[in-house]
Amino acid sequence: MSDLRELYQEVILDHSKRPRNFRQPADSNRLAVGHNPLCGDKLNLFLKVEGGRVADAAFQGSGCAISTASASLMTEMVKGLSEADARTLFDRFHAVVAGEGVAGEELERLNAFAGVREFPVRVKCATLAWHTLIAALNGGRRLVKTE
Ligand code: ZN
Repeated sequence: MSDLRELYQEVILDHSKRPRNFRQPADSNRLAVGHNPLCGDKLNLFLKVEGGRVADAAFQGSGCAISTASASLMTEMVKGLSEADARTLFDRFHAVVAGEGVAGEELERLNAFAGVREFPVRVKCATLAWHTLIAALNGGRRLVKTE
């Protein structure tokens, strides 16, 4: 069970217990819905995109600790980024769950999710919010399934 304990690192526990940006903003202009049927994770992602920048990011939904923590961290990290930088961050996150670490103070929190690559089912939990982010950036109001 030590692998599983490693999976639920401090960052993940913290974000799953006290998710950031867990709300529905009144003034969002992008919405995408993510669903991971393998685990039952569901989330609605709300973005407010203004002048090519993610002015606000928030989510609501229900899911396992990994998916909730991932959505919480994602919304925290993309807020304030340009759309292009948000897409780059998606690529970085994918690199992390594929087994490549990322460096840099601002990105190191992503490495908390590196352990999920040992658990293919959990990879879908971890990446759900990020795929939903891209869908929302692409125009939103889309249902994203991880399969
Ligand atoms: Zn899950």
